[in-house]
Order: sequence, then structure tokens, then C-alpha cells
Amino acid sequence: MTEPFIKNEQLNFIKKQIAIIKDSMNKSLPKTVLVAVIELAHAKVLELFPQASSEQQALLDISKWKTKNEYDQYIEGLTAYVLPFPKLTEQQLKKLFPKQKKLKLPDLTTIDHHKLTYLSWTDGKSNRKFIIYDLEGQLVGMEGKMTATNKKNICSFCNSFGEVAYFSTITKDKKPKNADYYKAIGNFICTDSSECNRNIDNTAYLQEFFQTAEGRRY
Ligand SMILES: [Zn+2]
Repeated sequence: MTEPFIKNEQLNFIKKQIAIIKDSMNKSLPKTVLVAVIELAHAKVLELFPQASSEQQALLDISKWKTKNEYDQYIEGLTAYVLPFPKLTEQQLKKLFPKQKKLKLPDLTTIDHHKLTYLSWTDGKSNRKFIIYDLEGQLVGMEGKMTATNKKNICSFCNSFGEVAYFSTITKDKKPKNADYYKAIGNFICTDSSECNRNIDNTAYLQEFFQTAEGRRY
């Protein structure tokens, strides 16, 4: 059996492409148009996996199904190939946030690691949000303050419209002449991070955000 190779955000992308196909099936489109929609969706999925083996390419072939039911079953089967977010111990979590002496830890047993692009939890008392992301093979922790907006807006991470809060974090941008220079950066992000993880289909912004917050530039 092929090893897991699909990331959460990639599965979300595939699901969205399939939703487009299913939507097109609902409209009585001419057959050639429907075929074109399916071919385009298929090409977009393959584009996400430039290194895919022929076996993986066969698994990613979303053009071969005929009914909505078949698509649903296909998606169900594809979840077996999703890479889980790395499992962290309490010790590792604490190490990622060394400044927090009394870090409130998440209940990792209730979190499905197969449905995570990033791991996040909020300390309700202090309104601090903790985020862990795998930045190019290295787990990086970020913390910041969540300020409720009670409004709906576009989330910077997943680009979906929904309930957001203002997340602000302090970065220490290294400047040679001013070692104590602090800069705050902020974003509207989903209040509910599991909802965000369900929607996110690319990590360009998340990566950039983590690189900036880290004060790192590549
Ligand atoms: Zn979001």
C-alpha cells in the first residue's frame, strides 16, 4: 500500500475541486463542458504534487468517477493517505513556549492529528492563542493575544469568511543597530482553529507569517 503522502491542506484542496465537479454535475451542462471542468480540476490537483509517483498519481486521479456517490467514497478512501501532524509530548510543547512558565496545555487526546495543518489552542483566561506549525521540517511555536471582534471577516490563514478574532503577536526583528526593537504584527484569523483547519487549502500565508514572526528571512 502507498504510504500517506497528502497533507491536510492538500486534502482540503482536493475536496474543493471535487465540490466544483459535483456542483457542475447538478447543472445540466453539455457533456463536453463537464468533461472540461473535470479535466481542469484534475490538472489542478496534480499540480499540487509535482513529485508524485505513478502510484500516487493514480490515487489522485479525480477524473475517473461518474457519480456523486463515487466521489464521496473516493474522498473517504483518500483520507487513509493523509499525513498526520506530528504528535508532541507535553515536554515538547513546553519547549516551544519557553517564556510561559504556566503554559496551559491542550488536550491532545481529543484532537485528530490527521485534520491539522497547524496545531492551536487558546488559554481562555488570558486570551492567549498558541500555534504550532511545521515550518520546512521544523516545528515552530507562536503565541499571541486574541481579541474578539464579534464580526465576520476573511481569515488570513484559510481565506474563508467566518467568525474571526484579531490575533496579535510580538516579533523581534533583528536589527543590527537596535537589538531591542519590537514589532507587533496582527491578523484576523478564525476564532475556531478546527474550522480553520477544515478550510485551509494552501499554506503560503501561514508560512510567510511564521517566517516574519520568527524574524527569519529566507
Ligand atoms: Zn481560518
